[in-house]
Amino acid sequence: MAYPELALFLDGGRRQGQGRLLRVHNPATGERIADFAGATPQEVEGAAASAYDAFKHWRDTPAYDREAILRRAANAVRAQADHIAAVIVMENGKPLAEAKGEVGATADTIDFYAGEARRIYGRTIPARTAGGRMSTLREPVGVVAAFTPWNFPAINFIRKVAPALAAGCAVVAKPAEETPATALLLAQCFADAGLPPGALSIVYGVPADISSQLIAAPQVRKITFTGSTAVGRELAAKAGALLKRSTMELGGHAPVIVCADANAESAADKASAAKFRNAGQTCNSASRFYVHRSLYERFVQRFAENAVKVVVGDGADAATTMGPLSNPRRIEALKSLVADALARGARLAAGGAPLERPGWFFQPTVLADVPADAQILAIEPFGPVAPIVPFDSIEEAIQLANSTPFGLASYAIGDHAPTIRLLTTRIEAGIVGVNTFVASLPETPFGGVGHSGWGHEGGPEGLEPYLHTRFINEL
Ligand code: NAD
Repeated sequence: MAYPELALFLDGGRRQGQGRLLRVHNPATGERIADFAGATPQEVEGAAASAYDAFKHWRDTPAYDREAILRRAANAVRAQADHIAAVIVMENGKPLAEAKGEVGATADTIDFYAGEARRIYGRTIPARTAGGRMSTLREPVGVVAAFTPWNFPAINFIRKVAPALAAGCAVVAKPAEETPATALLLAQCFADAGLPPGALSIVYGVPADISSQLIAAPQVRKITFTGSTAVGRELAAKAGALLKRSTMELGGHAPVIVCADANAESAADKASAAKFRNAGQTCNSASRFYVHRSLYERFVQRFAENAVKVVVGDGADAATTMGPLSNPRRIEALKSLVADALARGARLAAGGAPLERPGWFFQPTVLADVPADAQILAIEPFGPVAPIVPFDSIEEAIQLANSTPFGLASYAIGDHAPTIRLLTTRIEAGIVGVNTFVASLPETPFGGVGHSGWGHEGGPEGLEPYLHTRFINEL
């Protein structure tokens, strides 16, 4: 299958940019698969202006009509699911089955927010004066600037675009330059479904230049970003200086607590599958493993056996269960985290190095007995490296889980009700999975605390960032 021709998406269709040349690689081979031109500052300015023009009509489009357009877009995504999934594999590298799952969830998310468009309710408030009326209206905030990453190029994009459009906002998006085609295919689905031109635009370029320009653009009222804590901090500061709202979905470093009553082998099976999904490049990925000492050695052994069985390869090969990392930056970051942990006394139970082949592959890696001062327990690896640590008491496990500034997802494995109750309330995180690693569904809220950011995506909560409340007092 040929990789799609790349462009910007402006005024309802593909447009060739006039800006700096950008290059896309297939992470499974490291080879260049496309060059294309990014946006000039004038093109970015034009996208913001068109978005504002589109917003003035889209906000008044009846909710039933907005719903109908979103439903048609969801169906268009389903109709092209195989093609979109194959493109995700080419530019991101994940196994085809995972890419198909992502596209299915993308369509389901559009459908969910299509329904939510019809449930944007205000309320009436008993008036203080006879004959008076007090009420609230929920209104779209305006033009949204959305910045989305490369790890889930479809779902991360749509978790911003679908609720924003459902609320009546217009969006200018800058998806990651590593994975530009997926968002273009999705935008075309909305255009084919009847979304007015300008209501959804896509620009690419130098990320810092585009985000600075869009955040400052007078038409833009809302910033939403998914990516690293470091970049989120910069964007939030810029938005804050201009008193613009922001939603920040940032890094995570999810602790997994395996309780004394868990079955060591089945816990290791679930935990290793969660760790190596998307090659560990998931913000809610199971990331640090704290295991009760009574099952620790069995857990480590089974986890390591599972790591060795992972079939690492090109995501397009049906046998592959873990693809490459999406860019070479991750290889260097993982090499350094593994070297640091080993130098401090960790034990290598599996993997430990990049694969000697073209592309950006890293072996599924298991580090046992990781000491508390190892960097990998403080820095999110965002890759297929699993640090495992024993604990003796549940209080100690909670203290270890809360030892980073992150607080996105967290997980517990066990059945003892009082222990689970303690874990679901004491771990500092926006999400707690108990005996499951499913942390994100279209209908459920997803968001973190601390350095994992603020605000929610998913569920009815995911609509809130795109709405404000107007109070009307009539006498
Ligand atoms: P990075 O900080 O360079 O980039 C992260 C994302 O932000 C990319 O999509 C990039 O295009 C975008 N970006 C970078 N600078 C930007 C700017 N000034 N304005 C707007 N967008 C900008 O990191 P990376 O090397 O691409 O990824 C590694 C780290 O990023 C990981 O450690 C992880 O914490 C984080 N990350 C998180 C998620 C997530 O789902 N929360 C996704 C991807 C990356």
